[in-house]
Amino acid sequence: MIDRPLSTFVKHLMPENQRPADNKKPVSMWMEMDRLNGQPEQTCVAIFRTTGCSWYNFTSCSMCGYFNDISKTVTEEDLMKQTDSIVHYLGNTRTLKIFTSGSFLDEIEMPPVARDYFFDSVHDRIDKLLVESRTEYVTKKTLEPIKRRGINARIAIGVESTNDDVIRKSVNKGSSFSKFVTAAETSKEMGFEVRSYLLLKPPFLSEKDSIEDCKKSIEMVAPYSTDISVNPMNIQKNTFVEYLWKRGLYRPPRLWSLANILLWANENKYLVVSYPTGGNRERGVHNDSPDEILLDNIIKCSLKQEFEPLREYVNSSDLGEYNETVEMEDTYPLQFDLQKFTLEMRSSRLSL
Ligand code: SF4
Repeated sequence: MIDRPLSTFVKHLMPENQRPADNKKPVSMWMEMDRLNGQPEQTCVAIFRTTGCSWYNFTSCSMCGYFNDISKTVTEEDLMKQTDSIVHYLGNTRTLKIFTSGSFLDEIEMPPVARDYFFDSVHDRIDKLLVESRTEYVTKKTLEPIKRRGINARIAIGVESTNDDVIRKSVNKGSSFSKFVTAAETSKEMGFEVRSYLLLKPPFLSEKDSIEDCKKSIEMVAPYSTDISVNPMNIQKNTFVEYLWKRGLYRPPRLWSLANILLWANENKYLVVSYPTGGNRERGVHNDSPDEILLDNIIKCSLKQEFEPLREYVNSSDLGEYNETVEMEDTYPLQFDLQKFTLEMRSSRLSL
């Protein structure tokens, strides 16, 4: 289940010390639009500062840099103070998405006392709660406290890909498709919805292969999912993907590829959304030239599940160069970002 050399290398890139932080404050809180209740609506998002994902004790996923926000000294009291801040910030908003730098359902990261305080603080203030978790923490025992309080929840699970080779050799997730199936079935049995996250363009895959991997994964997770969120790669600090990218050995996916997947999913009646982080930026999903209209279309179509504007925009665009490049890259033995790789070679900064 683990590619040991990759896991070890990823671990070696992770910083040993944490940045100073106020343990009583969440990492971040903001309002955004999502459609967790069947239509676009204002959604409050909060990231708890925690001791971090249990996977960090061994390694990390190759694209995950959330360890940059953890604090090993966070206590139960701190987590309760953070809950107070979140409740205050929530105001009258009735939909809440909770992230941690790991798994909300991991009882070591979010101890039962702090978790129950959170549930008791929000249960009558919200109509929908989304929490994220690794597959192994999605159990009847960890879901029962949510069920007992009658909270309408969606459990978000990072599947990334349904191909176990991709999960092991590229994402370094320490999970598998069958573990996802068990977690999703447990969630459904307990009466909860499931959001499945898929990763567009894990390292080592060509863009063409990553599109196919994503479509195949959509087909396979759909029977277990209320909706599917396609997350195009966003390069975070101190990660394996950043290591490759800095050396010209990785390029984030193009917006055209994301549009292709969304339109295909819509044609095939899958409920797929995408709200890219870092879109049109160097570290996020981007075409060779920034395209704000395309990004805007992707987000609006995801929110409304009306894909005609995106389809019209794509059909009226010249994708000739994009198609050629993607085909050409598929023949490379390594997934270079040719422009960046050449620059690195010229400036002699390449040290592999
Ligand atoms: S399971 Fe989630 S939080 Fe943990 S390393 Fe992977 S992406 Fe990061």
